[in-house]
Parts: sequence; C-alpha cells; structure tokens
Amino acid sequence: MKIHEYQARELLQAYGVPVPPGQVARSGREAAVIAGEIGLPVVIKAQVLVGGRGKAGGVRIARTAREAREAAEQILALTIKDIPVEAVLVAGAVDILKEYYLGATVDRATKKVVCIVSAAGGVDIEELAVKEPEKILKHYIDPLRGPDDGELREFLSAAFAKELLDQAAEALGNLYRLLIEKDCSLVEINPYAQIGDGTLIAADAKINFDDNGLPKHPDVEALRSAEEYSPEEIEAREAGLSFVSLDGDIGCIVNGAGLAMATMDLIKLFGGRPANFLDVGGSSSPRKVLTALRILTRNQSLKAILINIFGGITRCDDIAKGILIAREQIDLPVPLVIRLIGTNEKEGRALLEQAGLEAASEMTGAVRKVLERAKVGR
Ligand code: GDP
Ligand code: MN
Repeated sequence: MKIHEYQARELLQAYGVPVPPGQVARSGREAAVIAGEIGLPVVIKAQVLVGGRGKAGGVRIARTAREAREAAEQILALTIKDIPVEAVLVAGAVDILKEYYLGATVDRATKKVVCIVSAAGGVDIEELAVKEPEKILKHYIDPLRGPDDGELREFLSAAFAKELLDQAAEALGNLYRLLIEKDCSLVEINPYAQIGDGTLIAADAKINFDDNGLPKHPDVEALRSAEEYSPEEIEAREAGLSFVSLDGDIGCIVNGAGLAMATMDLIKLFGGRPANFLDVGGSSSPRKVLTALRILTRNQSLKAILINIFGGITRCDDIAKGILIAREQIDLPVPLVIRLIGTNEKEGRALLEQAGLEAASEMTGAVRKVLERAKVGR
C-alpha cells in the first residue's frame, strides 16, 4: 500500500526525522490560509501516489499568499499520470544547498533490509540507477542484530561530510526502525536536503507498506486512500474476495488461492490469458459469487468466464445459488463455463440443472471448453 507524502512526512516526524512544517489543502483558499500560518515562502505539492510530480508541474514555490492560492488552484486542476490531483501539501519552503537521497527497502534476494544513500539526490533514483549506478551506495543490515550507529556512520561517510554524519546516521537509524516497526516495504527521502543553517531535512517523503503486514497496523490501514485501488479491487476487498486484475480476457472465479493459480496456469498452457485472479475464499456465500460476477462483467475485454470450484468448506450448492441469483440480477455478456466438484456437489448440480445449466466435473476439460467458448465469442 502506498500513502501520500503529507501522511508519510507525519510518520517520519513521529520517528524523529526532521521535516519542514506543512499541512494538506484541498482548495486554493485553504492553501493560502495554511501558507499564512506556517510562514512564507511555501512549496505547494500535488498529492498523488506517483513520482515525478516536479517534472509534471506539480511542485511550485509561492512567495505570497496570493501566489500560494494560485499555485494550489493550478496544481489542483492537473492530472498527473492519469491521476487527478485532489489535494496539495503546503509546506515551508527551504533553501536547499545540496540534495541527497536516503532510503531503506527490503531486498528479497539477500532477505535483508538494504539502506540506500546518494549524494546525487533530488533526481529520479530509478534513472540514476541506470545511468550512474556508481553514485548509489548500498549497505545491507543484519536482520538479527539490526544496525548500530557505528556501521551506519561508516556507510554514510562515503556520501556526507563529517559535520553532517550525526544527523544522517540518526535519520537512517530512524528510517530502519520505522520500516521494521510498521512493516514498510520502502521508506524513501528524496531529496534529503541540506539547508542553509547546516541541518538535514526531509523535503519529500515516500513510504510503501507490505500489504501482508497491514492487519497488524490499523493506524496505517486508516491512511489508505481511495486512489490506491481500482473501484473493482475496493468492491472485491469489501466483499471478502481476493481479486487482482490482469490483462487477459478469460474471467476466473475460483475457490482457494492454489486452485486459482492452477486455473490460471492451465488457461495459459492452452494458449489463453486470464483476465483476473479471483479467490472467493473458503466459506463462500451465494452473495460472494454474485459480487464476483458483477465485478468481472464490468471488464470490457472479457470474452468468457470460468467458475472453477473444488468444494471443501465451500459448498457447491452455495456456489450454484450464487450463480442463479447472478443470472437473474445481471445480464451476463459472455459465455459461462462451470466446473463443480466436492461438498454438496449433487445438490449444486441439481440446482443448476433445473435452470438449464450444466457443470463439468473435471478441470482440464472445463478450461479447454472456456477457451473454445471465448473464441466463438459473445
Ligand atoms: P517529486 O518530483 O514527486 O519527487 O517531488 P519532490 O517533492 O521531490 O520535489 C521535486 C523537487 O522540487 C525537489 O527535488 C526540489 O529540487 C524541489 N523542491 C521541493 N521542495 C522544495 C523546497 O522547499 N525548496 C526548494 N528550493 N526546492 C524544493
Ligand atoms: Mn522527490
């Protein structure tokens, strides 16, 4: 999960990393009021969950309240990488002497947290990594011991002057603590700015979270913004379905993540492309099937749907009921192929047969059939 800069900077501050004063605004007038409160000049920044806002015109310095209002209004009218800007951060502008990059992320290959620093901050770090990788320095932390101040200072001394080391090491130690305690997958400050009076301050903040850690952190979960997921993904989550959109055209409704993966594999094996991953979970109520079908059928590229159920805790008759309710409530625009075995299979099949629907009992055949039906079309 991603959060906005205005939220990330609050977390940084709570972990002892200095940030300029600032507040979020949703209108030009609000921005001008905040600018008056924190003191001019201010920097007005688009709050969207993508990077490169600077280049897109989403970061502007304002020297008067009037400029703050105008800049905010202009930024609020922008769409950056397809995302309409709905809020801006109004923060105290700082005089930047030098821009550094400071971050920490989880490195899956080494199974360690890697700290990343560069004296060439401010710019796009991904671009820097390609063009001038030697300017990016990395240090891996022993997960059992955690970092000690000495090792962080030694690592950072390659990028920071001696008089800045105390601050930088303290900040990096705090980033590490934040990353571990809140189950972040990335904590990044770019630019980590050296300002006029010789202090280092976070002039931008980006924090991503490991979704699997979110149940442990309701305070973090509360920061989730609607922009984070597609409307389909939000609806699916609320209905208790795990759903991931993919770019194929065969819709899949399956119970259990393992069977869902196997189903997608078989579709691929036979030359098809799944439109989604969808796991209706263990105890499936008819309503879940209805919601799943409703979500799937919104996809304009869909050519056919496969419902693949291996009933254990999931009861086949519940699934059948869901299918029948869905047929009444939604106009299914594409062919539907059903495979149903396991708990209450007989009852489930009987329900479907009464409605003139048949269900396969074997998976490979069902996958072949849905691909054929998809070819024939709607
Ligand atoms: P990003 O482009 O989305 O990463 O947005 P940033 O918040 O990093 O802003 C882009 C650039 O704007 C920074 O690299 C800085 O050069 C500049 N900038 C941001 N805040 C300030 C500020 O307070 N003062 C000055 N002088 N420049 C700033
Ligand atoms: Mn930045």
